[in-house]
Amino acid sequence: MLNIALFGPPGSGKGTQSEKIIEKYKLAYISTGNLLRAEIAEGSELGKCAKSMMDAGNLVPDELIVQILEKKIKNLDKDEKGILFDGFPRNLVQSYIITGLLAKLNTELTAMINLEVAEEELMDRMLKRAAIEGRSDDNPETIKNRFVQYEAKTKPVADFYKEMDKCYTVDGLGTIDEIFARISKVIDQLK
Ligand code: ADP
Repeated sequence: MLNIALFGPPGSGKGTQSEKIIEKYKLAYISTGNLLRAEIAEGSELGKCAKSMMDAGNLVPDELIVQILEKKIKNLDKDEKGILFDGFPRNLVQSYIITGLLAKLNTELTAMINLEVAEEELMDRMLKRAAIEGRSDDNPETIKNRFVQYEAKTKPVADFYKEMDKCYTVDGLGTIDEIFARISKVIDQLK
């Protein structure tokens, strides 16, 4: 299987690039952020627990992430070509969780693709997105905390995969197609 974790700070374009990656490489898509938002929209207990943390820009507890992942993995096709993870793993504990989860499917993470974008650009993009999509966590205060959480908890995950030679950094500045071409080049070299 071709299993990729798309990594990068909030607003780095993971969602946009994910759509293109799954279409080209025919991968199953697991975005923990989308799964959490779906739980909130459904009004489930899990969604209720997650909402206040997401609105504050904090990470949701790993136990909840494991629950939504278990649910999603169960519904995957047996003969899936691979999985694209978006927004997961987001801390070091989750790096161990993904290893265990993929081991259960007799496979492992092939690579992490790290989208690199400068912080000034990120804030700009996210405020624009807020105006269009109205995501409740895209306000200046929450965005600031999401960056703090990213620096403290999420960035070390990239170092973890760098040590295993599995982390590929891609310049996340440019047009959607330019960035996608860079990502494709990395993926094509993995296969
Ligand atoms: P972004 O990467 O732009 O912040 P996401 O949709 O990936 O957007 O995440 C939105 C929020 O959902 C996060 O701020 C966090 O509260 C929660 N979240 C998403 N994925 C995870 C995860 N793997 N672990 C913990 N919390 C998560």
